[in-house]
Amino acid sequence: MSSSKPAPIAIVGGGPCGLTLARLLERAGIDYVVFERDVSPQGTARFQGGTLDLSAEGGQAALNAAGLSAEFEKLARYESSTIFIQDWQGKNQLSEGGGESDRPEIDRLQLRQILLDSIPAHRVRWNKSLSSVERINAKKTQTQSKSSSPADWLLHFNDGSTESGFRLIVGSDGGWSKLRQLITSAKPQYSGKMFIEGCISLDNPEWDAAFKMVGAGNSIAMGNGLSLAVQQMSDRSYRVYMGVEASPEFTRPGGDADVNDMPKARETINRLYSNWAPHLRGFVAGAEGPWRPWLLHRMNQEIYLPDALRNDGKVDEKSWTRTPGVVLLGDAAHVTTPNGEGVNDAMNDAKLLFEHITAELANDAGQVYDAEIDSATLERAIVAYEGQMRPHAYEMIQDSINFEDMMYKEDGPQRMQVLFHSKEEQNEASKKH
Ligand SMILES: Cc1cc2nc3c(=O)[nH]c(=O)nc-3n(C[C@H](O)[C@H](O)[C@H](O)COP(=O)(O)OP(=O)(O)OC[C@H]3O[C@@H](n4cnc5c(N)ncnc54)[C@H](O)[C@@H]3O)c2cc1C
Repeated sequence: MSSSKPAPIAIVGGGPCGLTLARLLERAGIDYVVFERDVSPQGTARFQGGTLDLSAEGGQAALNAAGLSAEFEKLARYESSTIFIQDWQGKNQLSEGGGESDRPEIDRLQLRQILLDSIPAHRVRWNKSLSSVERINAKKTQTQSKSSSPADWLLHFNDGSTESGFRLIVGSDGGWSKLRQLITSAKPQYSGKMFIEGCISLDNPEWDAAFKMVGAGNSIAMGNGLSLAVQQMSDRSYRVYMGVEASPEFTRPGGDADVNDMPKARETINRLYSNWAPHLRGFVAGAEGPWRPWLLHRMNQEIYLPDALRNDGKVDEKSWTRTPGVVLLGDAAHVTTPNGEGVNDAMNDAKLLFEHITAELANDAGQVYDAEIDSATLERAIVAYEGQMRPHAYEMIQDSINFEDMMYKEDGPQRMQVLFHSKEEQNEASKKH
């Protein structure tokens, strides 16, 4: 069936990345709809993770392109960008960032709200969890053309509903993306490390100690195979992240730190940190439940190599296939273990894709709308976007592997200082060019 105007773009996942793209499309007058798993904007408020620092060239640049810098500045916590670093014995202390730092913090839910407030409410379909994707028109595509078009895909949701007939399908559905399988069979791999998240509320006896050590910023302690991050949120409570190396079963029912059995989990975790400096141990012992485990996963770096660099030429779990009409952004495209860049890269992906889409559409301006020509136009934009996204993803995954290694080692503080300074130098150099 042909149409005289383009169908909407489907954005699956309303996280920082999907909503940034939604806002950019909104401003450009391009039709779209967001399908989001959460039941409402507050859906999983307790566990949206801690605060996010937005870099000038990442999250802040994306918000600027989206016309949202002023809204961000109202909530940005520049005073929170100091990070206090020490080893597990409380030695080798140092502070980085702060002052003129261009990486202010914002709570994840606040960032989401800024983006949601910037688009009409009807654009987001809540409680729409994508469960699978089915190829329709398979016969047509097999006989007439080898490639698919976005209209060939039927989206199935957990509530039993289906949706189809889109102009483009964007997968911004996070690390466990249901759309990724259309591009690669690779899945995120468990790094062997996890964070267990707890909280220190304002009435917690440990709050004063946290305030004295961390203030409005962040802190990280590391060594002896463990790490401990304490960071202040906008309501002045603290999030505590206990970083342990363990199998995924560790925090699951029956595991040594089963988070559904808090006394057992506490006993195990207190024992792990028992030889840490007393002031650090106190935050572990005082971290309020319920605790939330974040198993840290990352994609295999090799899938981001240019095809030419793959010396075996096989299509396997390391392959990245262009599936016309489908594009991945953010964690769906390249989830990494935390290195402080995840949200910045995700929002930058949205900006990058949008720039390529609008540049390509501008070339077709003035022509009568034709669905096939439009698909080819969007495909050129996606190819250009992936040409930039994939090499960057390769670098970021390497960066996160280095970061991960450092986070649990005795010499972590010194290595982190070197890393911060080399990043500062890189930023200075890129500003000069
Ligand atoms: C413990 C932890 C701490 C972190 N700290 C930082 C940090 O300090 N700085 C930083 O830059 N990054 C940090 N990150 C990484 C950062 O959170 C992610 O890189 C970033 O959120 C990616 O954004 P996204 O929009 O691509 O995906 P997400 O934020 O994961 O958003 C995906 C959205 O899609 C929705 N969704 C998922 N599945 C479906 C489905 N099937 N159907 C419909 N909707 C779906 C989700 O509900 C969600 O709204 C951290 C990550 C972790 C685990």
